[in-house]
Amino acid sequence: MKLLRVDMNQSQVRWEPVPPVYERLGGRALIARVLLEEVPPTCDALGPLNKLILAPGLLGGCSVTAAGRLSVGGKSPLTKGAKEANAGGTAGDVLGKLGIKAVILEGQAPKDQWLILRIHSDSAELLPAGNSRGLGTYATSDLLQEMYGASCTVISIGQAGEMCMGGAGICVTGEGRQRSNHAARGGLGAVMGSKGLKAIVVDKPTGKTPPFADADLFRGAARTFAQKLINDPKLGTKGSQHLYGTASIVAAVNEMGSFPTRNFSNGNFEGAETLRGEHLREVTLARGGEAGTRCMPGCVIACRNVYVDATGKPIVGTLQYETIALLGSNLGLGNLDEVAVLNRMCNDFGLDTIETGAALGVAIEAGQGQFGDFESIRRLLAHVGEGTVLGRIIGNGAVATGRVLGIRRVPAAVGQAMPGYDPRSLKGNGVTYATSPQGADHTAGNAFGARKEVNPLGIQGQKELSLRLQIIAAMLDSTGLCLFARPPIIANPQLMVDMINGRYGWGWTVEDYDRFNRDVLRTELEFNRRAGLTTADYRLPEFMHTEPLPPHNATFDVPDTDLDTVFETL
Ligand code: SF4
Repeated sequence: MKLLRVDMNQSQVRWEPVPPVYERLGGRALIARVLLEEVPPTCDALGPLNKLILAPGLLGGCSVTAAGRLSVGGKSPLTKGAKEANAGGTAGDVLGKLGIKAVILEGQAPKDQWLILRIHSDSAELLPAGNSRGLGTYATSDLLQEMYGASCTVISIGQAGEMCMGGAGICVTGEGRQRSNHAARGGLGAVMGSKGLKAIVVDKPTGKTPPFADADLFRGAARTFAQKLINDPKLGTKGSQHLYGTASIVAAVNEMGSFPTRNFSNGNFEGAETLRGEHLREVTLARGGEAGTRCMPGCVIACRNVYVDATGKPIVGTLQYETIALLGSNLGLGNLDEVAVLNRMCNDFGLDTIETGAALGVAIEAGQGQFGDFESIRRLLAHVGEGTVLGRIIGNGAVATGRVLGIRRVPAAVGQAMPGYDPRSLKGNGVTYATSPQGADHTAGNAFGARKEVNPLGIQGQKELSLRLQIIAAMLDSTGLCLFARPPIIANPQLMVDMINGRYGWGWTVEDYDRFNRDVLRTELEFNRRAGLTTADYRLPEFMHTEPLPPHNATFDVPDTDLDTVFETL
């Protein structure tokens, strides 16, 4: 395998052999190590010393179902610490097939010189961004696929990334015309924009497959893994994840009183009925849209949808839970058509729907719009794409918006907005939001699935639960595996060990693999420590400790001593 280093100062690319320290790493694990080895922890996240790292997981390119995610990382302009966000689509698979362990972007292009990186088989070059400059992600992907072929993968930023907004993510295309898989969180789109890189185009590799140390061991484990997913009652073809997508959990989160409503002022939304996954499916299919589609080839879960308007014209694909929570109930909207329009705008500007939905909630609380009034919210969001002063405030995320507009009720931890679970009624997530080196991020360890195991309203067992989930998340993000495909691996870690040994021949045991996953967290925590983050940063906002959340009137009361000791057994 090899590394592709891109020097944006000099407009040069160079291929390098993978140094031993990176050899047994992939995805998030590799990003954490590159940050610690190569990036000054106290650097400006949007300055020339930060690096943007794009890395497939250890299983990238191996055609394992749901394991082709692309990890993107760097120092986050929001959390000021290590950040990894990952996206579905075809990027992780094609980079893996090309034997590219990581693409590492360094330095910054001279001011106003925007570039595109094109990777074709064993060659790479930087080209002028031309007409793609200033375009949204849909038009950028269309233009570049027109120029370089419909089968190429496009990784791009929209206007938000170009303007270096903290809420900017990175968009990855999928199969055919499929768009809008986002490595959304942490402001990594702003890091890409700060480098002067508008997009990366990767030509589809032909006839390339990675070498296998033990093909039979690998194939046997990969087949068993896929079969277990197909047979899983929640994930298989009759499962809720396949039928209703991630929106299948709307009713359950609302019932447990954790559904963010009107800037996290209630955990129960009276309009939740029309935001439910069942309703989403019904409307989608009745109008001629699609349900049960996939973001990458070969995924047997296929959780996605293409949401269409009343005339059958696609608005957005896919409409998913976090977006429905942050751009729907959190803004007082119970109409999926309206949420879909806001979702499309965010996707096009290249914005994280979680960060932006939270920022809009804060802006509305400051009197800049009205909860439940779609038109006032659409206008606010349009400001972001236009780059007005108000738009730049909102585009820089919930914390920036609260600070400028004088709002103390900001649902964020470690600088980053909270996803669609109010932590006062799901305290395990509160522990994850507060303590994860990734900031408030449900993908770093989501306790929702464990609500029957640990009382979500109690404080007992939350720190142990969060740690366990954070270790699992580190594994998923380092192998390229989708979050939703985790059950068979959690039940039988040997399956993952066999796939890795079959691919690389490392002779890992389950204990080696557990150590590997824990090391990811240790490395990120060390980077954050060197970056200056202290226990004072690893906290939830004060209002969540004092303001009771209806309907359970719960506050976040997990003691600070528990937060400070989450990693003591790591
Ligand atoms: S489960 Fe959904 S998000 Fe995950 S890989 Fe499959 S289609 Fe993509």
